[in-house]
Amino acid sequence: MAKIEHQLRSPKPLIEHYRQYLPLTEKTVAVSLGEGFTPLVAAPRLAQHIGLEQCDLRLKLEGLNPTGSFKDRGMTLAISKAIEAGSRAVVCASTGNTSASAAAYSAKAGIKCYVILPAGKVALGKLAQAILYGSKVIQIDGNFDQALDLVRDVGENFPVTIVNSINPFRLEGQKTATFEVIDWLGQSPDFLCIPVGNAGNISAYFRGFKQWHESGKTSKIPRMCGFQAEGAAPIVRDCIVENPETLATAIRIGNPASWKEARHAIDQSGGQIDMVSDAEILEAYNLLARLEGVFCEPASAASVAGLAKMAARGAVQKGATIVCVLTGNGLKDPDCALKHSRVDLKPVEPRLEKLIDCMGLKESL
Ligand SMILES: *Cc1c(COP(=O)(O)O)cnc(C)c1O
Repeated sequence: MAKIEHQLRSPKPLIEHYRQYLPLTEKTVAVSLGEGFTPLVAAPRLAQHIGLEQCDLRLKLEGLNPTGSFKDRGMTLAISKAIEAGSRAVVCASTGNTSASAAAYSAKAGIKCYVILPAGKVALGKLAQAILYGSKVIQIDGNFDQALDLVRDVGENFPVTIVNSINPFRLEGQKTATFEVIDWLGQSPDFLCIPVGNAGNISAYFRGFKQWHESGKTSKIPRMCGFQAEGAAPIVRDCIVENPETLATAIRIGNPASWKEARHAIDQSGGQIDMVSDAEILEAYNLLARLEGVFCEPASAASVAGLAKMAARGAVQKGATIVCVLTGNGLKDPDCALKHSRVDLKPVEPRLEKLIDCMGLKESL
């Protein structure tokens, strides 16, 4: 409903729709691919499975953005502002989704885009996107944190705009997800569960909730609950992780750029930051697909894995409204889905007898 209303009321690009809350000027022209206004679907079967049947659990489907992740919200603003400032080229380090998004919005704007990736650690769909959108893709024999250090140096020494989340417009654009949540629910939820990698998104959500709380559009700020992968949990462990490891490549980060702001968001909102194992991530990834029909990225499932842990220790009160942010689309990383499923795909003879056997129809009827 809300999605339809949004679109009927506003055929405008996302950043123009929310322009009074964003750093736009009369000169800003939105570079848009139809981002934002993603659905917030109820997940009652999942809620029941993790013991939260008396709660209102919602999934924010950010994988439905134009390039398949929430990064488009920040990128539409970052690229629009880069154009406004006269920039002709942008650069980013990426675990995959930032590069896909930067490449697409740069193509739309007609400017050059360079993306620096950790070799062998980017899901195939994301690499394919960056290549097809026509960016200059450079893989380094190193991890994301090293790639970002290099990008900072490039930005300091050459006329190339950095579009990582250290670009101030990225987080401003990402705030729009918060506004949609409040518009959709009519108020803030009690809990906001979100995966944490470079920690920009959790910081952006907190900024958005705070801004609308201050302007009187919602009476409360949710508890911000962030989840890192066990092998890449610098904020939880309170120290830099030199060699982060997790199958959730989008959050495989050992020294988050927005560490301080994320810490502030968690503390100020009465939230928490915890870590989840790869096994717990995979479990949530499967449950989302099987119980709710949602195919998200492994990193996205960290939000649900974390919520399940909170539920198990009784940290979620009855009647609570909870939003889990599903940050990216599962189709970006089909390898992960196939590698971790135990399904037998061996072909059988094309005979009815065999088929009935395989379907197990005799036993189940
Ligand atoms: C970028 C990304 C994250 C992590 O977001 P941060 O702002 O870096 O914390 C999580 N999931 C997906 C799918 C992403 O692309």
